[in-house]
Amino acid sequence: MKGIPENIINVLDRLHAAGHEAYIVGGCVRDLLMGRVPGDFDVCTSALPEETERVFSGERVIETGIKHGTVTVLSGGTPVEITTFRVDGHYSDGRHPDSVSFSRTLSEDLARRDFTVNAMAWSKQSGIVDLYGGRTDIESGVLRCVGDPEQRFSEDALRILRALRFAATLGFEIEPRTDSAARKLCGTLSLVSGERKRVELEKLLTGEHAGTVLRSYPEVLGAVIPDVLPMVGYDQENYHHIYDLYEHTVITVENCPQDAGLRIAALLHDIGKPAVRVTDQDGIAHYWGHEKKSAEMAGPILRALRYSNAEAFRILMLVEHHWTDIRETEPSVRRAIRDFGRDLYFDLVCLMKADNASKAPDYVIPEFYDHLRTIGSSVLERGLCCSLKELAVDGNDLIALGMKPGRDLRQKLERLLDAVIDGECENRKEDLIMLYRKNG
Ligand code: ATP
Ligand code: MG
Repeated sequence: MKGIPENIINVLDRLHAAGHEAYIVGGCVRDLLMGRVPGDFDVCTSALPEETERVFSGERVIETGIKHGTVTVLSGGTPVEITTFRVDGHYSDGRHPDSVSFSRTLSEDLARRDFTVNAMAWSKQSGIVDLYGGRTDIESGVLRCVGDPEQRFSEDALRILRALRFAATLGFEIEPRTDSAARKLCGTLSLVSGERKRVELEKLLTGEHAGTVLRSYPEVLGAVIPDVLPMVGYDQENYHHIYDLYEHTVITVENCPQDAGLRIAALLHDIGKPAVRVTDQDGIAHYWGHEKKSAEMAGPILRALRYSNAEAFRILMLVEHHWTDIRETEPSVRRAIRDFGRDLYFDLVCLMKADNASKAPDYVIPEFYDHLRTIGSSVLERGLCCSLKELAVDGNDLIALGMKPGRDLRQKLERLLDAVIDGECENRKEDLIMLYRKNG
């Protein structure tokens, strides 16, 4: 099999030479068969953890996962996770097995894995071990549970979201029995921790085929984020829009770059709309203030998915300001950079462009947003001042001229910055001091 790094082959060889079975397993085998570059290589072995440690006694061994049978070995400078074959015990809580025990056979280890395409192993000695038809499913682009889908989803509800995640990243169809079990049991996703759901949700949203999956499985997404459900089929009744609110949201997600934060922001950017709707005399619906409402609703959603405050801040800023009025002029763009900072400015333009792309065709103006981006890049390239930090005078300069520290001082500095941004004054100390003296 091509594409397996030297250090992984070494690990397999050493375990084998010591009399143990050893394979690469799971996602990496799937990716290699699909001609994709695996993110990481997992190794599984018949050796018990302490036996693995003995094989690699000359190397650096990290024991962090040892309770679950995982030993990490530094091989060729990179960490390789080696996990003893496992069987999961009974699942009584819908998220983890009551017990995990080690096994001496590969087939038991493969049986506990979620999907046929993820349940293959490879070694030099055995070639590809495919007990569940994973290869055929890869060829036909099908995602299928190993064993009975309802049972597998009842054991661990996260697998339902993982099914959507793999459909979104691999572009696979979820086969009918797996599909109907996912829809039937998706309510049990409430048993799963926010951390685990977040990982899969982000991978789903950044997948190449995220739009298709979101369109097909709104109820599963709704089981993770219930506030999404009122958007499904919601008629926006406004001439700017031809899509229902959920479809508008999905197109916005699809049109954002494949960045998790941006795509989560896209998913949540309009969730506040139903709550703030007003209908005028002509029967046209308006959603004034929906961006604030959406941000207000997004906060608890992100917290439940265990986003840190810093991570949530960026997403909430994007949601809250996706409606900001930025003009195609340098001063307007410089003000936006002043208000949001450079990174957020460009993210915001991406989100606004994606949001615009899912409006009624007459209102779609990508060139406007491209122009905002070009102006922003040009402002930064030329090092134009957009913040008090970059202003050629600071508080101390004004204090030296007799001002007292405090709010007035800050306002004066802000006015000087305005003058620079508006092109009324060069960002030079003597010019700014002259202007300050003139205006007092
Ligand atoms: P990626 O390339 O995104 O890492 P992956 O297939 O390696 O995809 P992981 O989440 O890293 O996915 O899991 C590694 C392997 O462990 C999977 O391929 C699968 O065989 C198994 N696995 C992971 N999570 C579960 C689960 N909840 N239930 C059953 N098997 C699982
Ligand atoms: Mg992996």
